[in-house]
Order: sequence, then C-alpha cells, then structure tokens
Amino acid sequence: MRKVDKLGRIVIPMELRQKYGLFEGASIEFLDSGDGITVKSSAPTCKLCGKAISADASIPLCEKCICDVRETAR
Ligand SMILES: [Zn+2]
Repeated sequence: MRKVDKLGRIVIPMELRQKYGLFEGASIEFLDSGDGITVKSSAPTCKLCGKAISADASIPLCEKCICDVRETAR
C-alpha cells in the first residue's frame, strides 16, 4: 500500500518503473476509468522483448536485442 503525500505525489515501485521505462523525466498519462486510475507510460519499448529503451534511441530495440540481431546476421 502506498500513501499519497501532501502535494499529491506517489512513488511508483522500482520494478514497475524499470518494466515500463519510467526513467527520470519520462512522460506518463493518467487515465480515469470511472472506478480507478490507470497510469500509462508513453516511454518507448523494445519491439522484440518489450524492455524499456531511451527516448532518443534511433532503433526501436534495446541494446541486448541489437546485439542479438547483429549476431544472427553474421
Ligand atoms: Zn529487446
């Protein structure tokens, strides 16, 4: 259970931040579903494994998948 502080802030658990690419400065959206709030990450993710990648990545793949693709191409 998390508590909201006096400024309305909450801490997003580390494992969820890593999973959804919520690095410092990342953008999120709050979606009101009527019975709760969905927090949606707009951070880009790897097209192969879904791992978060940096927003300025030129290829939509994480470093590991880029390496794997290079290995396969040899
Ligand atoms: Zn990947």
